[in-house]
Amino acid sequence: MTPIQALQKYFGYSTFRHEQEAIIQNILKGQDVMALMPTGGGKSLCYQLPAVLLDGLTIVISPLIALMKDQVDSLNVNGIPAAFLNSSLNPEETRVLVNRLRNNEIKLLYLAPERLFSAESKENKESKLIPFLKTLKVSQIAIDEAHCISSWGHDFRPEYLMLAGLKEEFPSVPVIALTATADKLTQKDILEKLNLHKPAIFVSSFNRANITYRVAPKKNSFKQLIAFLNEHKDESGIIYCLSRKSTEALAEDLKDEGFAAEAYHAGLSNEVKARNQEAFLRDDLKIIVATIAFGMGINKSNVRYVVHVDLPKNIEGYYQETGRAGRDGLPSEALLLYSPGDAMKLQAFAKVEGNEQQSRIMLNKLNDMVKYCQLLSCRRQYLMKYFDEEFPAKCGSCDVCLTEYKRFDGTLIAQKALSAVARLNERFGANYVIDFLRGSKSDKIREEHKQLKTYGIGADISKADWQHHIRELVTMGYLQTAGDEYPVLKLTAQSAAVLKGGQKVEFIEIEKVEEVHHEESLP
Ligand code: ADP
Ligand code: ZN
Repeated sequence: MTPIQALQKYFGYSTFRHEQEAIIQNILKGQDVMALMPTGGGKSLCYQLPAVLLDGLTIVISPLIALMKDQVDSLNVNGIPAAFLNSSLNPEETRVLVNRLRNNEIKLLYLAPERLFSAESKENKESKLIPFLKTLKVSQIAIDEAHCISSWGHDFRPEYLMLAGLKEEFPSVPVIALTATADKLTQKDILEKLNLHKPAIFVSSFNRANITYRVAPKKNSFKQLIAFLNEHKDESGIIYCLSRKSTEALAEDLKDEGFAAEAYHAGLSNEVKARNQEAFLRDDLKIIVATIAFGMGINKSNVRYVVHVDLPKNIEGYYQETGRAGRDGLPSEALLLYSPGDAMKLQAFAKVEGNEQQSRIMLNKLNDMVKYCQLLSCRRQYLMKYFDEEFPAKCGSCDVCLTEYKRFDGTLIAQKALSAVARLNERFGANYVIDFLRGSKSDKIREEHKQLKTYGIGADISKADWQHHIRELVTMGYLQTAGDEYPVLKLTAQSAAVLKGGQKVEFIEIEKVEEVHHEESLP
């Protein structure tokens, strides 16, 4: 059977999406693969289809027991024998499963990572799973949500670190790592930690063209939310809050206003979580008010909107959460209510969680999130750039693109900024460049820099406005940031055209926006 025949026969689809076919070809050749695809992109098929075609067993590592059952059920419905091995099985069920595995009757076996390296059953503590699996013909290992292995990621699961040993245990079995997190640092971490052998790397476009991105200043969030929900009556949506307590309070308040809403967070009993999740999947419940604990792997196609009433901690999380809207390809909304106060609260958290290096990375990521909220240029362009994807034109479907702004000629401002970056040899972050432009008397500015002609040429512009301008110059590609831990501003291939004259730069006219003070964390 060819891959396309298997696609039609077992999955009922006529064509492959994005990179699916190429990914599958690599696995069939026996090559390690890392695949990055947005939520809803069709990752599961990338290992499920080879599992059908390959002789032997595919092991699937997945972080959430609840999701395994759904996946296994739908595979079985499609006539693909699949099973999961987890603590919910009793000894008898485990024995039956082990026999089916021995008899080569299972194509896909789902496991939580901690399970792989622990005893096969409670009675039989001596018998470890890995030695047993090695007696079977394992033909593929799929690691779902592979970003969970990276402590830089937003969803670190220590038990994923155990997977580092997999390649050693199964040296000739192709491993496919899948994730919807495309952040460069996390990518590198995944490759290193999993010890993949010369992996083929696939990055699908992360653009979700059917989602409209909007950010509104958070004033009276409940009122704003009600106004939004009134425009989306009878549609399904997810509302994300930062704390468990606020999900419950907000769900209650929404019920009082007549909306069908329930809370979801990690602190609720499994029973309540399952009930709310299922009601939402069945469309009996329209609104889930959740912490970020909700959503991983949820396959609901008709989520029409995702609202963040609190600021997310980073772009990866935000993008994954908003990506849960519109999997069916129909127009959907992502609304974020932004307040600088939220940013300060998260800054304080980031400083106490984790060590110094980790806090710095978290703060930088938070800053990128804040910048996104304060953007005066296309939000989609910014998101795509964040994921290192080319997106040359304005999208026309984010709030910035959809708003008629007054614009002004900012060429001179751009020239000042770019020449400051050049004079400072492209070795300083935005805060330093701005202080330098404004002629700050602070000791932080080096004496030799105070002697430069560019020092102080931007004193007529406030610090807050400079922050906007620099951000826009980065978004427009006239400047770039480099370095994850201590990002510095650098020129780009487009900078020369502005510096030498000829290239005009336009900025959006803004009212003075209240700024969060990021003395330490702005690049
Ligand atoms: P992800 O894990 O990347 O978030 P899924 O694997 O759950 O995404 O796939 C998202 C949806 O797309 C599922 O409903 C899946 O059945 C569907 N899908 C996957 N591949 C194809 C395809 N080639 N053609 C049509 N639909 C597909
Ligand atoms: Zn746009």
